[in-house]
Amino acid sequence: MKLKFLTSAAEFNQCPQDKVPEVIVMGRSNAGKSSFLNALAGQSVAKVSQQPGKTRLLNFFQCGEHYRWVDSPGYGYAAVSGSEQRRWHGMIEQFIQQRENLVGGILVMDIRRKWTPDEQMLADYFVELNLPLAVILNKSDKVGQKDKSLRKRELKSVEGVSLTFLTSASKRTGVNEAEKAIFDQWVRPQTETN
Ligand code: GDP
Repeated sequence: MKLKFLTSAAEFNQCPQDKVPEVIVMGRSNAGKSSFLNALAGQSVAKVSQQPGKTRLLNFFQCGEHYRWVDSPGYGYAAVSGSEQRRWHGMIEQFIQQRENLVGGILVMDIRRKWTPDEQMLADYFVELNLPLAVILNKSDKVGQKDKSLRKRELKSVEGVSLTFLTSASKRTGVNEAEKAIFDQWVRPQTETN
């Protein structure tokens, strides 16, 4: 099993106090972030969203031996109030800007959805800190080959996106490949120099 739940944090100061490398996993609600994490785990480790906007925690998962994935609450719920959205932004911004363990971010998107200012704002945080961001184009089973290539190509020109992957969490395709590439490119170099 690749992914194992470790702990949750409701506040930044509750995050584990050590130096294990981490990637933060983000996504608009319903993009399939939980399904993606579960597909990687090979079992249900992340709740497939039933109550939009309810989970306001950072959830830490051990990924293999060397690093962690940190699941963040889904964003973009229409029903969520402005103050709750600001809280989400504050939490993510703080984590990205202050978490020394962070080696990169993963943004899970529904391949059929457009890149919006919300996604660009996240990408901008990573550009600012010179950290890599990978975009997972999930639900790729829902589109044809032409759209898959087109969406991948479109993201190539987006500032701040360093890697793109096509996945289908429900068919479990592309998921392990994405994790392997992320580990090889972001984490392995660090484990070799240390
Ligand atoms: P989250 O809100 O981002 O955590 O999204 P969920 O994992 O809860 O998924 C939202 C919905 O999309 C659920 O009904 C999933 O079954 C479905 N879903 C997730 N991934 C895929 C996928 O790769 N393909 C298809 N067709 N459906 C998916």
